[in-house]
Formats: sequence, C-alpha cells, structure tokens
Amino acid sequence: MDIRNINDFINLVRDIYTPKHIKDREKNIDGMFIPLHEPKFAGNEEKYVLETIKSTFVSSVGAFVDRFEDDMSSIAQTKRAVALVNGTAALQISLILAGVKNGDEVLTQALTFIATANSISYTGAKPVFIDVDKDTMGLSPLALEEFLSENAQLQEDGCFNKKTGARISACVPMHTFGFMCKIDEIIKICKKWNIPVIEDAAEALGSKFKDKPSGSFGMLSAFSFNGNKITTSGGGGAITTNDENIADKAKHITTTAKTPHKWEYYHDNVGFNYRLPNLNAALACAQLEQIENFIKSKKNIYNQYASFFKSQGVHLMKKPKNSEWNYWLMSVLLDSKNDRNLFLKNTNKNGVMTRPIWQLMYRLPMYKNCQKDRQANAEFLEERIVNIPSSAII
Ligand SMILES: *Cc1c(COP(=O)(O)O)cnc(C)c1O
Repeated sequence: MDIRNINDFINLVRDIYTPKHIKDREKNIDGMFIPLHEPKFAGNEEKYVLETIKSTFVSSVGAFVDRFEDDMSSIAQTKRAVALVNGTAALQISLILAGVKNGDEVLTQALTFIATANSISYTGAKPVFIDVDKDTMGLSPLALEEFLSENAQLQEDGCFNKKTGARISACVPMHTFGFMCKIDEIIKICKKWNIPVIEDAAEALGSKFKDKPSGSFGMLSAFSFNGNKITTSGGGGAITTNDENIADKAKHITTTAKTPHKWEYYHDNVGFNYRLPNLNAALACAQLEQIENFIKSKKNIYNQYASFFKSQGVHLMKKPKNSEWNYWLMSVLLDSKNDRNLFLKNTNKNGVMTRPIWQLMYRLPMYKNCQKDRQANAEFLEERIVNIPSSAII
C-alpha cells in the first residue's frame, strides 16, 4: 500500500466511525481519534450494576455470578462454567486442573498474547512453541503432528519429550482474533498422544467451528472479559468444561479452597482468591445479552473494509473455512515489513489506531530459550499482520 492508498483507508475509517451528527456539524473530522476496540454499553449495564450496589452484594458471591456462569455454559454449550477474576487466571487454573505440574512442558503457539505463555510459567511448566497455520493464525495440526512424531514418546504415565525428558502435560491452542483454529484435528492428535487440550478462547467468545462453539472442545477452556474483548466485565474471565468434577474443583481452588461450613475456617489446599466480583458479573451479564448485536455490527464494518481492500488489492484476513467468526479484531496482511511499518506509522499519526500482531514469544527474554519448531508461518505473519479498528457501532 502506498501513501495515497493509506490516506484513503484513513478516510474510510473516519467515515465509518464518526457519528453522523458530528459529521454534519464538523467540517473537519481529521482530529478524531479512533481506537482499535472500545467497549459499548448500550443495554442493561447501568441497571444491573446499580442492582448489585443496592443489594450490597458487590463482592464475590451474588446472583449475577451465578447467572453469568449459566449464561457462559449456555453460550459455550458446556455442562458448566466457572467465573474468574480474569482470563489469565482462567488459563492458569485450567492448566493446573488438566494436571500440569512443575517441570512439565506445555505445547502452545509463539504467535499469541503474552498471557498464554505466562499462565504456563505460573504452573512451573515451560512452553514449547509450535508453528501456526497461515489461514487461521492458530496452532497448526500439521506442525503439531510433526513435532510430536519427532520429539515425543508415549509412556504408561503420559507423553514425554525425548530430548528433554520432561512430561508434555497439555496443549494450548489459541483462537487468534476470534478465528477458530483447526481444533478438531488438534484434539484428534492430542488424544493419540494422551495430551489434554485447553482452548485459549479468550478472543473467541461467539465463534464456532463446524457449528460447535469455542470453549466446547477442550477438556477445559478459558475466556477473558477484559475491556478490549468482544464483551467485557471491566476485568473478568471464565472456564468452561463438560466435566462436572473439574468444574467443582475449579470453583473450590479459586475460592481459597475453603470447605463449606457455617462458621469454621478450614482450607484443604493452597487455594487462590480468583473469584469474579458480583459487580463485574453484573456488567458481564448485560454485555452477553448484546453479543449477537455486537457481532452483527462488526460484520457490517468488515464488509465495508472488504470492498475497500478488494479494490486496493490488499489482503484482508477472512474467516477460516468450516467456521463462524465473532469479528473480534479485523486484520490485514501486508506485503512486507516495510509496508507494515509505513501503514502503522501513517495511520497512528492520523488518529486511526492500528497495531501489529504480537512479537513471537521466543523474542522475549523470559522465553528465548524455549524449544520451538521451524516457525515459518508465525514469522511470516509476525512481519505482516496489522489490526485495524474493529469496534461495534451501537
Ligand atoms: C486477553 C487474552 C488473555 C488474558 O485475558 P485477561 O483477562 O486479560 O487476563 C489470554 N489469552 C489471550 C490470547 C488473550 O487475548
């Protein structure tokens, strides 16, 4: 894209995101700032949050926490959901409950947000980075199969890395920007190697793969309700699972591992205080009521981008086949790192927020010595993918 085309893009974004009454009033809309993704509170947010204040149940128990858990298990079509303080904690607890222990290894992608890798480190395990597919930007089943057949050995007590001797105790694929990765193939491979799968579905609430929702595939799955996600609770997270026993354990260890009793304090484990306050759950419930509207509006914006970029010969990333997309963050694939830098510089300078995809995890000091495969696709995408403004207009 040259400068002229980038300017056309900036004008298109301004046109999409400037409300009509402002466009009518202001001759010059050049100074407007357009964020990458902002939350929209157009429903019952105020009403529900006020209800919690009036009821005094603002903290970690309350009707909205229960309702949020019911809503999440029905969206993810799982038997259970457990509310948590954020998505990173949801990943950490999922890993612990899948059996990940100090000294183990966990397979994941290097092309992800830092929380995926950090949650693995919190358990004392090490991430091992597997390449992604170019179309989904998520963990590649082909690369996974290749890595395992080259490096892994199946033993009675699990799957082991022949090179390091460590147990490979989980696999965490991530649904990048709401695109579903090839989760059915990943599950099949991991089953063969006796490795539990945890979906990092933080970005994929509302997305589906072959008509099944994100969060319904893994032994456990983690969602985030941070302020930049498709729906927010201010801060928050959730685990979904079909295993009642695991769900009970998740609730227990995130509630200080206190055994139920009318007055005695007895804790049977080193638990966590990872509960989601009712105040935040109230916000989440109001947001979940609107998710279909958010997706509809975002899809409409995507279609406007699609016709623009088509005329420019620029590749707007489109949802992988066999899936439905929540349109969380939209992105373009530019021709080179130079093109990418020019695009980032000019859009951000002009108040149109754009961001490059994450730097690969093994570029960071904490993860630079982790084992990894070839990473050809991850490195290709790292240099070229840029997110563009994707907020819903409500
Ligand atoms: C947002 C996000 C998380 C973490 O969620 P928080 O609620 O911010 O802790 C984890 N993984 C991915 C891929 C995310 O985008």
